Amino acid sequence: MSAITPIDIPFDKRHTCWFCGEPCDRYFEYHSQVHTPHPSLAVPACGECLTLAKQPTFRT
Ligand SMILES: [Zn+2]
Repeated sequence: MSAITPIDIPFDKRHTCWFCGEPCDRYFEYHSQVHTPHPSLAVPACGECLTLAKQPTFRT
């Protein structure tokens, strides 16, 4: 049950960091920490933003 479900991201943005816009090859996965219609979803993120995003104090 670890499948990533990308949200509706334009094809040309799927390798662009959702947070800073830099090219990336990772995904930041949301789980039950936020209310979504999906059990889990993911947005593309670079390593730097991925680290930031995983901090409890991170806010979008
Ligand atoms: Zn980034």
